[in-house]
Amino acid sequence: MILSLALLLLAAAFAYAWVRERGRRRAAEIRHKAELADWERRGTAEFAEQAQRSAALFDRMVEGMIVTNAAGRIQLANRAAQSFFSFDGGAIGRTLLEATRRHEIAAVAERLESETEVLGHELRLEGADQPRFLQVNALALRDAGGGRDGALFVFHDVTRLRQLEAMREEFVANVSHELRTPLSLIKSAAETMLDSGHDDPAMRLRFLEIIDRHANRLARLIDDLLFLSTLDSGRLRLESQPLALCRVAQEVIEDFQIRAVARGVKLVNGVAEDLIVQADPDRLRQVLGNLVDNAIKYGRDGGRVAVDGAIRADGRVEVIVRDDGPGLPAEAQPRIFERFYRVDKARSREQGGTGLGLAIVKHVVQAHGGEVRVESAPGAGTTFFFTLSAALTPADAPARSPAGP
Ligand code: ADP
Repeated sequence: MILSLALLLLAAAFAYAWVRERGRRRAAEIRHKAELADWERRGTAEFAEQAQRSAALFDRMVEGMIVTNAAGRIQLANRAAQSFFSFDGGAIGRTLLEATRRHEIAAVAERLESETEVLGHELRLEGADQPRFLQVNALALRDAGGGRDGALFVFHDVTRLRQLEAMREEFVANVSHELRTPLSLIKSAAETMLDSGHDDPAMRLRFLEIIDRHANRLARLIDDLLFLSTLDSGRLRLESQPLALCRVAQEVIEDFQIRAVARGVKLVNGVAEDLIVQADPDRLRQVLGNLVDNAIKYGRDGGRVAVDGAIRADGRVEVIVRDDGPGLPAEAQPRIFERFYRVDKARSREQGGTGLGLAIVKHVVQAHGGEVRVESAPGAGTTFFFTLSAALTPADAPARSPAGP
């Protein structure tokens, strides 16, 4: 009896220990599962967040990007690529040719089959008003075992670069032409003199005048080109200071008086004496000089050229050069500040123009932080406006506080 009681107690103790251990294990198992689930949840959320960040990053890239899979179908195309080729998110799963409708891209993809290097190609896309140029760089992607695993295409918009190159080429062609014209006139005058003109003093004088005029034009052209190159490179140093606009206008008017009188043009200084601007004196004279010179050259014989100034509502000073000449055709007005643009080439050359005067005006005014514009109508004269900062004269300056430095 005692033995069976002891056995019973032992079995009960054993059963109790077994149940406790099972409970403990079960609790540990539940805890472990919960931890695993938590990890998984956090991992998925992190992964989703990472994927979202990458997608946002790709979409913010200015370069277009397309990734294809091993079957040549689009897996990923960012927003820039979508806008270059005008396809929407529906491009996923399509081939490059279907999505971009560009055979060259499909051909690059084909070449990638046998290439290990990055392949480059330039695409020209016809736009509504002007072509767009895209540099394509393509690279075959490999999986961990070295097998082909699709390709990556990056599209870089090089339109601005191509436009600048075209502008540079046009500029060089223009410069060569502009240099060659006076040079060939100098050369033919010298040759004529050498051949036949040396005996006749009147003829010799005529040819020497031609040589002198065109040599001067050549020198002006070279000066203007060198000055523009200083402006382009940002090497121009402005010595800005408060200047009485009326006085600078008067100096310019006096410089051009002889030329104006020769054409019967009246030069008028209408600038108020108390108008003070902040500018570099030599450069302001240069800008006003170019505008007054043009107004005399392209205005009318016996006409009137006026320089004026006014304070605008925003506190800046507007300088105005107005003539009563034949004016500018509407289509010429947006182009008038371009290098070598002239309405009448022959007239400009005959007047000794370089075709760079207004380009210099625009750059110098911009270097002062101002803007330049033109208003004109055929038969109603031409008016150039440019803005400068008004300078604080000692009388305008705010009184210094006694505690101030
Ligand atoms: P240019 O050396 O030919 O004078 P500019 O750059 O100074 O070169 O001027 C460009 C062109 O703008 C001139 O050739 C002329 O056709 C036109 N132009 C400039 N100023 C005037 C004006 N006041 N009236 C009419 N046309 C003008």
